[in-house]
Amino acid sequence: MKLKGKKAWITGASSGIGQATARLLASEGADLIISARREDRLQQLEQELTAKGCNVLVAPVDVSDRKGMEQVGSMIAANGGIDILINNAGTMPISPIINGRVDEWEQMIDTNIKGVLYAINAVYPGMAERKEGHIVNISSVAATLTYQSAGVYGGTKHAVRAISDTLRKEAIRYGVRVTDIQPGSVDTELPDSIAHDKIRAAVKDNMYGEDMPNLQPEDIANGIFYALSQPAYVDVSELLIRPVIQEN
Ligand code: NDP
Repeated sequence: MKLKGKKAWITGASSGIGQATARLLASEGADLIISARREDRLQQLEQELTAKGCNVLVAPVDVSDRKGMEQVGSMIAANGGIDILINNAGTMPISPIINGRVDEWEQMIDTNIKGVLYAINAVYPGMAERKEGHIVNISSVAATLTYQSAGVYGGTKHAVRAISDTLRKEAIRYGVRVTDIQPGSVDTELPDSIAHDKIRAAVKDNMYGEDMPNLQPEDIANGIFYALSQPAYVDVSELLIRPVIQEN
C-alpha cells in the first residue's frame, strides 16, 4: 500500500476517470475526500470504499462555484490539509464556433479552467506551508493539439496544461509536485455532456471498438498512480496516454 497515511481530494469522482482513481487510491491505502455534483453517486462510492476499509468523506460541490470551493478548502484546512489533489472534474459540450453556443463555452471555461484554479487555491497554500503535496491536473491530448468543433474545450485544456507547468515551476520552492495528465480517448460518460446532437453522435461513432479497444478509466488511474508513487525527488511533469489506435 504505497499511499497509506496520505489524504487525497478527487474532484469529478462520481464517474469515469475520477471514480476509477478513487478506487485505485483507496486500494493503495489513501484516505479520500470525493467531490462532484451528483451526491447519490458519491454516496454509493463512499459505501463501496468504506466497506473495503477506506476512510471516505463526501464533499458535494460544483467546481465552478467559487464560494462552494472555498468552503471545501476551509473544511480541508480545518482537518489538517491534504497531501494529494486530483483535479479532474471537467465537461466537454463541444460544437463548431460558428454555432455560437456561448452558454456552453462559459460552462467549459467555468468548470475546466476556473474550477481547476479554485481547487488549486483551496489546497495549495496549505501544501506550501507544510512543504509537501502533489497536485495532479487532468488536461487532455487536446492540451497540445486542436480538433474541429473542440476549439473552446481544447482552449480550456491548453489553459490547464499552461497552469500546470507554471505551477510546477513556482511550487518547486515549496516542495509541492505538479503533474499534468493528458488522456486520449477514454470510455466514460464525457460525450454525454455534448448537447449538439450531430457532434455527440459523431464523437460516439468515433470511439474505438473491440478489435483495438479504447482506453478505460482505470488506464488513466494507473498513470496517475505512477506519478503519485514516485520518490519525492521525481516529478512526473506530464503524461500523455492514448489508445494505440489513436493517431492524434
Ligand atoms: P465523466 O463525464 O465520466 O466525468 C466527469 C466528472 O466531472 C464527473 O464526475 C462529473 O460529476 C464531474 N463534473 C463535471 N462538471 C462538474 C462541475 N461543474 N462540478 C463538479 N463536478 C463536475 O468524464 P471523464 O472521466 O472522461 O472526465 C474526467 C476528466 O478527464 C475531464 O476533465 C475530462 O475533460 C478529461 N478527459 C477525458 C477524456 C476522455 O476521453 N474521456 C480525454 C481527455 C481528457 P457530476 O456530473 O456528478 O458533477
